[in-house]
Amino acid sequence: MKREPIYKRYQPSFTPKCASNIPSYWFIFKSDKLLINPENSLKLPLTSSLGEFSIIPIRSHYLGTLDGHDCYAIEVAPETSAPDGMAFADLISLFDDLDEDIFLLSGRAIQIVNWDKNHEFCGKCGAPTEIMANELGKKCPECGLMAFPRLSPAVITAIIKDRKILMAQHGYRGDRYGLIAGFVEPGETLEEAVERETMEEVGIKVKNIKYFGSQPWPFPNSLMLAFTAEYESGDIKVDGREITGAKWFNADEIPRTPSKMSIASELIDWYIENYSSQIK
Ligand SMILES: [Zn+2]
Repeated sequence: MKREPIYKRYQPSFTPKCASNIPSYWFIFKSDKLLINPENSLKLPLTSSLGEFSIIPIRSHYLGTLDGHDCYAIEVAPETSAPDGMAFADLISLFDDLDEDIFLLSGRAIQIVNWDKNHEFCGKCGAPTEIMANELGKKCPECGLMAFPRLSPAVITAIIKDRKILMAQHGYRGDRYGLIAGFVEPGETLEEAVERETMEEVGIKVKNIKYFGSQPWPFPNSLMLAFTAEYESGDIKVDGREITGAKWFNADEIPRTPSKMSIASELIDWYIENYSSQIK
């Protein structure tokens, strides 16, 4: 979307690039919680040696360079204490606090750590797997099965009718209204996923489905693909379980999400810019 590509600051690599006297950034996870150093501008620990913090990794992956520093993704044992002045925090709670590139890289790091942990053994024959050279993959030396970090694409759609936007209450989120969203299923295109999810969740048919943008969402491994669409036919009908309510909002009454960084927020900004009552 509007932000700069992450590759202006981050270069992926499989082998360390920097001289040993240049400190490295460390994405250190303990049970999915990231170690934060509030003193540093990027809030990540920055050191040439983890020994300085008495941190002992149980798995480690080189990620490439960020702003000219090597970066590593590390997992530590659950009993590990945070060094003085630092703290482990849930990644999702850092969504609005971290620099956006750092949040995205943290999402990459945690997904690599969890993929490594969850594919220590072959899912087909049970043999220990091996990391592939120069590729983000693992291979079974016995049967050849390969495993790559899994991404689960999900679609989220701003649906417009008579200058109003459709929002629904998803049961798991309580009373909060959100855009229509759901995972893509095997065998369908993204546009078909938009059509199916909209029909399943609120019982209406949409047309003019257009791609809007995308956002990695590492909880645990989604890629959000945003679309806009127009109402075609049908009346709102919800199942009362997964979806507990749905209605059309105009730009003045739309419930806002507190975070500015999510693609849902960008879709709503797009709607307000194009459909608020000031615009004729
Ligand atoms: Zn195998």
